Amino acid sequence: MRGIQDVYSATKKVVDLWSYDSKTVLYSSSIGALVFPVSLGLIQHFVFRTISIANGHLLAPVLGLAAVGLSGCASAIAVTEASYRLRVKQNYYYWRDEPAIFKLPKPYSLDDKDLKLLAAYFMGTVIVFKVFRGRFASVLPSTVKSPGAFANEGIIGSHRYAHKSQRQKIVQIGQKFGCHTCGRKWFIKSFIADHQPPLSLSRNNKTKKYLLGLLQYPKVQQKLYPQCVRCSLKQQKHLQSPGNYSEVVSHASSLRIYHLFLPLPYIWAFLQDVLNHL
Ligand SMILES: [Zn+2]
Repeated sequence: MRGIQDVYSATKKVVDLWSYDSKTVLYSSSIGALVFPVSLGLIQHFVFRTISIANGHLLAPVLGLAAVGLSGCASAIAVTEASYRLRVKQNYYYWRDEPAIFKLPKPYSLDDKDLKLLAAYFMGTVIVFKVFRGRFASVLPSTVKSPGAFANEGIIGSHRYAHKSQRQKIVQIGQKFGCHTCGRKWFIKSFIADHQPPLSLSRNNKTKKYLLGLLQYPKVQQKLYPQCVRCSLKQQKHLQSPGNYSEVVSHASSLRIYHLFLPLPYIWAFLQDVLNHL
């Protein structure tokens, strides 16, 4: 049974060795951290937007999970590649084995071992994303016809225009969570209280209409969400002319804490190096 002291001294040894090459670790980790949101943005724009699947879709959570996991694998590979290209080979004669930092596994031959490693990167990224309170559906684009990818808090609304206290509350929510459709929150002067579903679509407007005196449209609860002027205009255009203006809005550049990617290959190598020195 190893004591805390052993773990501490092994960790210290590994930190000492790694610190010789700290620039490589830092630069390659930064590249991985860049690749993750870029990859998510590309999938959002070129896959989900192209096939018009938005955050409200039934399959959105599953598709979002797949996008997060795949982007995590892409980032891990970017970290590995950058690590090999940037590294300054150190003298490690006092190590029993070659340190794991110098031989990050390259999962390119796609044999069983590689697939296991990629599965570990996939799952690891998904877990980190969840720990940072990410919602899988929110990596898909938004649609102007339903609560968007950044719709966190809304307030109960009615079929009338929002009154003053509701508008004030909406501005507060907007400053905290951003526009519910595109996620932008910096440099936005004012947020509009957006009705969801949009008033012009809401069946509730027609609840008084009965079909043969028997059927009634189901009541839909109106909610209000903060929306920026740009998205509000997109919504208006789409509702007026659905054939000419898409309802889908991408938000690849709106980053949140869950877009943070941890350099999983290094974390794994670090643990291995510590274990080798116990
Ligand atoms: Zn917006």
